[in-house]
Amino acid sequence: MLAEKVEELSGENIYACYQCGKCSAGCPMAEQMDFLPNQVILLILRGNEEVIDSKTPWICAQCYQCGTRCPKNVDITKIMEALRAIKLRKNVDYIKMRFKKNLPQIAVVSAARKYTG
Ligand code: SF4
Ligand code: SF4
Repeated sequence: MLAEKVEELSGENIYACYQCGKCSAGCPMAEQMDFLPNQVILLILRGNEEVIDSKTPWICAQCYQCGTRCPKNVDITKIMEALRAIKLRKNVDYIKMRFKKNLPQIAVVSAARKYTG
């Protein structure tokens, strides 16, 4: 099941999330995402594999803001990483990301790290 796989890879308890939305409210990349961080959790819990193919895990700048805001100590940064790992393990070689000039520098650096492993 998707939720168990994500928990295994991330080490996070996603069932602790009660959808307060604080993570999404503080996410600096939220405007660029197709699913907000709290929606990502919800999709995983529902077993909706659409989340694996979404661009959100690749847009995530790994800034840890969401985890520091979460009242339940859910570290979404690690969950995003787990989703990327699941996608990469499918060995699909078409991940595309359009770099925008107004992206924060941290997002560009983190994206480069994702592509270079
Ligand atoms: S801040 Fe934590 S509890 Fe609230 S929606 Fe985000 S992950 Fe869930
Ligand atoms: S780690 Fe990712 S999801 Fe969390 S606040 Fe930063 S950009 Fe948003």
